[in-house]
Amino acid sequence: MRTLGRGHHRINLSTDYVDAGGEQLWVDILRATLKHGLAPRAWTDYLQLTVGGTLSNAGIGGQAFRHGPQIANVHELDVVTGTGEMVTCSRHKRKDLFFAALGGLGQFGIITRARIALESAPKQVRWVRLAYSDVVAFTRDQELLISKHASEAGFDYVEGQVQLNRTLTEGPKSTPFFSEADINRLAGLASETGSGAIYFIEAAMYYDETTAPSVNQKLEMVLAQLSFVPGFVFTKDVTYFQFLDRVRVEEVVLRSADVWDVPHPWLNLFVPRSRILDFDAGVLKGILGGDNPVGLILMYPMNMAKWTSQMTAVTPPTGEDVFYTVGLLRSALSPDELERLQRENQSALAFCDKEGIECKQYLPHYTSQDGWRRHFGAKWSNIAQLKNKYDPHAIMSRGQRIFPLPSVPAAGTATT
Ligand SMILES: Cc1cc2nc3c(=O)[nH]c(=O)nc-3n(C[C@H](O)[C@H](O)[C@H](O)COP(=O)(O)OP(=O)(O)OC[C@H]3O[C@@H](n4cnc5c(N)ncnc54)[C@H](O)[C@@H]3O)c2cc1C
Repeated sequence: MRTLGRGHHRINLSTDYVDAGGEQLWVDILRATLKHGLAPRAWTDYLQLTVGGTLSNAGIGGQAFRHGPQIANVHELDVVTGTGEMVTCSRHKRKDLFFAALGGLGQFGIITRARIALESAPKQVRWVRLAYSDVVAFTRDQELLISKHASEAGFDYVEGQVQLNRTLTEGPKSTPFFSEADINRLAGLASETGSGAIYFIEAAMYYDETTAPSVNQKLEMVLAQLSFVPGFVFTKDVTYFQFLDRVRVEEVVLRSADVWDVPHPWLNLFVPRSRILDFDAGVLKGILGGDNPVGLILMYPMNMAKWTSQMTAVTPPTGEDVFYTVGLLRSALSPDELERLQRENQSALAFCDKEGIECKQYLPHYTSQDGWRRHFGAKWSNIAQLKNKYDPHAIMSRGQRIFPLPSVPAAGTATT
């Protein structure tokens, strides 16, 4: 969709929102808004993604616990539907199309403009990693952190990572976060745990000139409530831009090692909070336990209340207040490894099925309509109706294979 703007910088600011073309990259929106001391509130981990692309999924990251996914931070959309109609829609105007398009996998039309909420941009970030050897303490602390309101002492960004059976030299070394001595200490910690798994809370506290003097004290107050392994706190101060654009640094490192443009058999799942420990035991420590591929595993909770059920995006159907996103973001460096990682993904899904873990795929991929029906669950009939209304010829985003093409009469067949 990058050609949609014909090379124009379609990013226009107002005091509390930015109007951005669907083809614009989030990193360009960040640059443009920061010039005015403003920024969107919700981000993905990687910013070289288009507005239309992430809004067609959800757009999740460490700010989602507080602000919801990116789709919950949009005031208005322009959409060109499958019937060729150009519609401006919002929560108040043509709301069926607005909610359908958000998380809508491009099924109802092309998002040509999004009006995205802005806030005053922080200047600096205290970036923190806390190591855990126990998944129970890790998840309990994550859930405590995401329960905090902006007015309380807490973090502004909360994510988490799982390191399985790693020597801890290759992963963290590619980021400048850990020193050589830190890596040795972490390797020691990993070898002490029976499973070899260690967990990191990755968190961030925003500040600027006025709040800088109190950031140490605020951090101490938060850390005092947590149960990470004593002494395993790692911090770093960076600008807000550096923090948000951090995966770009990884990208450069991986590209130079020729391991960026390789197959990524990623599997992202939303797992109900009540089953996250079963998932950890069965999938992370079980099915993937012996693994050591390039890549990472993300695991962090989000608050259901920040998601809008009318949107097409799907969350676990269990009705719990909190669910986890688990991203198996692994790379395959050979055809054999690709096959193995794909097999493991299938085993992880089969495990959830067998154990009755009602998870949902994020960034889903199904090859049959039956799979999609199950994915959308109770939303399916509404989605099918909206598809019929806004894209009856099924010409939009056909690559998702959600709706088959309506049968076309054979050449020469008379039609009425
Ligand atoms: C390195 C990397 C890191 C990522 N990290 C995150 C993350 O932290 N959080 C997260 O939520 N996601 C993340 N993603 C996934 C990302 O949100 C999706 O892959 C998204 O689709 C990417 O947008 P894109 O601009 O590359 O989309 P494209 O690949 O261009 O499009 C993907 C699909 O989105 C739809 N689409 C795209 N543009 C439009 C439009 N204008 N109107 C209607 N439909 C449209 C179409 O169905 C299209 O097939 C990551 C992806 C990568 C590659």
